[in-house]
Amino acid sequence: MVSFRIRAEELDKNDPLSNYREAFYFPKTEADQCVYFTGNSLGLQPKSVGNAINAELRDWADYGVEGHFHAEHPWYSYHELLMEKGAELVGAKKGEVVHMNGLTANIHFLMVSFYQPTPEKFKIICEAKAFPSDQYALESQVKFHGFDPKDAIVEVAPRPGEHTIREEDIEVAIEEHKDELALVFWGGVNYYTGQFFDIERITRAAHKAGVIAGFDFAHGAGNVPLDLHKWEVDFAAWCTYKYLNSGPGSVSGIYINEKHGKNKELIRFAGWWGHDKESRFKMEPGFKPVPGAEGWQLSNAPVFAMAPHLASLEMFAEVGMNKLREKSIILTGYLRELILHVAKERGANVEIITPENPEQRGCQLSILAHGYGKDLFNYLQKNGVFADWREPNVIRVAPVPLYNSFMDCYHFGKLLGEAFEKLEK
Ligand SMILES: *Cc1c(COP(=O)(O)O)cnc(C)c1O
Repeated sequence: MVSFRIRAEELDKNDPLSNYREAFYFPKTEADQCVYFTGNSLGLQPKSVGNAINAELRDWADYGVEGHFHAEHPWYSYHELLMEKGAELVGAKKGEVVHMNGLTANIHFLMVSFYQPTPEKFKIICEAKAFPSDQYALESQVKFHGFDPKDAIVEVAPRPGEHTIREEDIEVAIEEHKDELALVFWGGVNYYTGQFFDIERITRAAHKAGVIAGFDFAHGAGNVPLDLHKWEVDFAAWCTYKYLNSGPGSVSGIYINEKHGKNKELIRFAGWWGHDKESRFKMEPGFKPVPGAEGWQLSNAPVFAMAPHLASLEMFAEVGMNKLREKSIILTGYLRELILHVAKERGANVEIITPENPEQRGCQLSILAHGYGKDLFNYLQKNGVFADWREPNVIRVAPVPLYNSFMDCYHFGKLLGEAFEKLEK
């Protein structure tokens, strides 16, 4: 353990991003220190967010309705402030990304456009054990179109004895069902195992079968480098309160490939904020969509959700995903090695079900602690660790490169070792 401690101190000293830790509020705990490893669930609050929200409150007080045009950041076009940096973050062109609604709502709105089943082609291929909200969305969409989820939803699962899904098995499933297939919808980074899929490969397989490829990047955006336009992804959506630190329930991002964005005939559920900007206030009948992702907006911008996201996007643009990813690979690699070392030292039967290859994961590690119950998690929690427990015995931890340190990882490892020792006896 001594060598791990020395390494952590060394790595922190040489970490070019170490200053960003100061830019966030860490929760107060009873324990001596807080190890915050739940940025995959709710990212910490950047200190710049308070000012960003207060500026809008002040303009609302000072201008009332005139704030739509006279606020420092006019609310009428507020969403436009997020478009460029939001697009950069996921490797999209500027007009391909817009922010609106919540994530699950957006999955439904996107499926209105991109899941238009026929009696012949109606199936959706998705991952087994997708995030429950995505499962409910797919199931209810299928039923809405008059199909039975049992026939229409095809899940690809890990092979027996394995925890993660092989891309080749996804390709086989697409090929096998292609005559009846309408859509491939996939979680870009699986919330449970942390597996980061080969998005380009899945998209290519879908296109080869002549179907649309859509992705949920709730666990991808701000965590792993994305290149959605280059990969020719058709559509995607993500939330901004996990790795993107924009606050509970904050606004969701959507991506629509420009080839679809240009298609004014593409069916959608429309609202006035998606309507042509020149004639929006003429309030005339007949929907004329703005070209690009903006044409999918329904309502005027939720400014109090967007202000934190704008502050956060500025921070991500300043650091850059490349630098974050560089640190993330070393940080998570260190934690992985430490957990396995501690487990071996204490004779604990522990498996990390997240892929070992950094190309196939982001920062999350999912620890399967055989033979341990929730006691293990409770011990960590009592000692200041924020982690996540999934029945029957998986602990998910996400060291986030923007605000977590190598010493955070070291403290986690030390507490885990203590827990193994105490709970065995
Ligand atoms: C977090 C998460 C959600 C949450 O959906 P909301 O609509 O934002 O509540 C949905 N899907 C996935 C894959 C998630 O990780």
